[in-house]
Amino acid sequence: MSGDFEDNIEYQNSFDIPDNLLDEIQKNIEEIITNFPVPEDNKLDVIKKINFMYSRTRYLSLTDALTGLYNRRHFDNTVEREFMRSKRYGGDLSLAIIDIDFFKKVNDTYGHLCGDYVLKEVAYLIMDNFRKTDFVFRYGGEEFVVILTETDIKSSQIPLERLRKKIEEYPFVFNGKPLNVTISTGVSSNNAEDMETFLDNADKALYRAKQAGRNRIEIFE
Ligand code: GH3
Ligand code: MG
Ligand code: MG
Repeated sequence: MSGDFEDNIEYQNSFDIPDNLLDEIQKNIEEIITNFPVPEDNKLDVIKKINFMYSRTRYLSLTDALTGLYNRRHFDNTVEREFMRSKRYGGDLSLAIIDIDFFKKVNDTYGHLCGDYVLKEVAYLIMDNFRKTDFVFRYGGEEFVVILTETDIKSSQIPLERLRKKIEEYPFVFNGKPLNVTISTGVSSNNAEDMETFLDNADKALYRAKQAGRNRIEIFE
């Protein structure tokens, strides 16, 4: 799955913020507040503005511009934390990689704007489908990842199958033309010995779902 993302470098956020920048911004804000002679009358206003800028920057650094979903960087941090937490406290955890089927054909046939339209709709349908306690990310180009907390692999099938069906039946229309869109999904559980295997297992299951004819869910067992 990592291949797609690297191959499609042109689709990455143009405003993606380097890892260490947030810390630097925070430091600068503190410096400005302590050193800059803000007139008493304006102090509240200035602090409000800085707070707004800070939360906006934070939002941009965690999310993907096209879909508004959490981005790859946030995924890397979250999956590590959730995997370690589940191992330490013995809870269930499942991870699903969702990949749009034959997405290249959508772009090639109807253009990138149409591709972007499909991505946005699919992102919304995914986000809308899971519990508030689950995490949904845009992993790369046309790939999404869902971390299902406190959910074993068997229970994960219920929302994943509901999503598969919802997308298959959703009336996608671009420039008046109806489109058929389907997804394939690979799922793994935290039985995996380490985090890399946890990810790799879901990727392997996704590969099997593609091989088996797409528009289906495969479990890594
Ligand atoms: P498969 O069923 O095997 O997944 O086939 P596929 O065509 O979906 O897979 P492939 O990895 O060959 O192509 C992925 C395509 O996704 C390539 C690129 O055209 C498209 N893509 C990736 N990111 C974006 C994006 O942000 N916008 C648009 N419009 N297209 C994108
Ligand atoms: Mg792909
Ligand atoms: Mg695909």
